[in-house]
Amino acid sequence: MIRKTFLVSVTAGLAFAAVHSPANGAQLRSIQMSATPEAALITLSLSDGAAAKVFTLDNPDRAVIDLPGTHADRDIPVPAASGLVTGVRIGRQPGGTLRIVVELKSAVAVHSAASNGGAGRQVTVALGDPSAARDPEPKIVRAAHAPGDGDRDVIIAVDAGHGGLDPGAIGHGGTREKDVTLAIARALAEHINAAPGMHAVLTRDRDEFLELRDRIGRAHAAHADMFISVHADSIADRSISGASVYILSVHGASSQAARELAEGQNAADLMGGALDDAGAARPVVLDLVQQESIGLSATAAERVVAALESVGEVRKAQVQRAGFVVLKSPAIPSMLIETAYISNPAEERRLNNPAQQARLADAIFGGVRSYFVQNPPDGTRFKQERRVASAADVTPAAAIAIPAAAAQ
Ligand SMILES: [Zn+2]
Repeated sequence: MIRKTFLVSVTAGLAFAAVHSPANGAQLRSIQMSATPEAALITLSLSDGAAAKVFTLDNPDRAVIDLPGTHADRDIPVPAASGLVTGVRIGRQPGGTLRIVVELKSAVAVHSAASNGGAGRQVTVALGDPSAARDPEPKIVRAAHAPGDGDRDVIIAVDAGHGGLDPGAIGHGGTREKDVTLAIARALAEHINAAPGMHAVLTRDRDEFLELRDRIGRAHAAHADMFISVHADSIADRSISGASVYILSVHGASSQAARELAEGQNAADLMGGALDDAGAARPVVLDLVQQESIGLSATAAERVVAALESVGEVRKAQVQRAGFVVLKSPAIPSMLIETAYISNPAEERRLNNPAQQARLADAIFGGVRSYFVQNPPDGTRFKQERRVASAADVTPAAAIAIPAAAAQ
């Protein structure tokens, strides 16, 4: 769930925080830009960490990068107009904020990423079609198993919702969704990694802000067989409690609540940099692939709902369908689990309890495992065991038949 105040900032633009803030301010060392008529990639090199805020304005169209507590030399070179970009200006804002204004030929989507370089920090802002101006490649969190091995592990991407600047929903007692999702995701990953034939990959294992497409990107990079996004729900009515499990719906949400929730999450997607709607580029192919993966998602999500229900944690006994962008991962069965209502004071307390986190993780694990037993992907140990099991079924009959034939 996304906090209301956070959604307000979503419409204003997108922002992300540095790992640490400098005591004496940072220096902007250079501005680099490459541009095509449709896109531009701007890279800022800074001496130190700074919180950056990126947003767009229209009339005329421009992108604005605000760097609080940052200064620059008066004669720092500014990139010349090129392609999409008609000009770059640097100015000062009150309170020591350095503002870089990028004038644009037309309104475009904005994506940004921050990283710590060796001796400083880099802020990358991609404007327009990101395939024309790529962000840095998402890194693989853990080494992936090569696909195609006869007895490889099934790989499950466990995605702790929110993180970094985005706290997610906040409970009345101050619990932040991003903290409990990380705790539950870690517990789930531990469970998975302790099970034979299963391997977990965490999309994040620390308090960091991740764009939604990077979450999916990390799952793909790890060759994940399944994507599970862990969240905690929030609603005005404090009495409501229980878990819900969502899968992607292409054609409308299953309930008004699901629709509202998805709208909130999708607003966050815009905040994190809009996910490429690949479906628009290749509608027919993706529709078929997505339909298959939605069917598998439904099967897997039903198992998880059943497992959560068996420990008495479910609000809605049916799998919910909504248009979360984070679930739009073609070919990987994906689900989003709202583990509990952080807005419910009793559930907020329980979400903070490691025993309850383990209980939820255990139930989710049980559902996921039973899905893979029934639906083993090719090349996995689960598939092999299933083959052995069905071979074992016919063995007794064959064993009886052979001596009978030999006796004649
Ligand atoms: Zn959430």
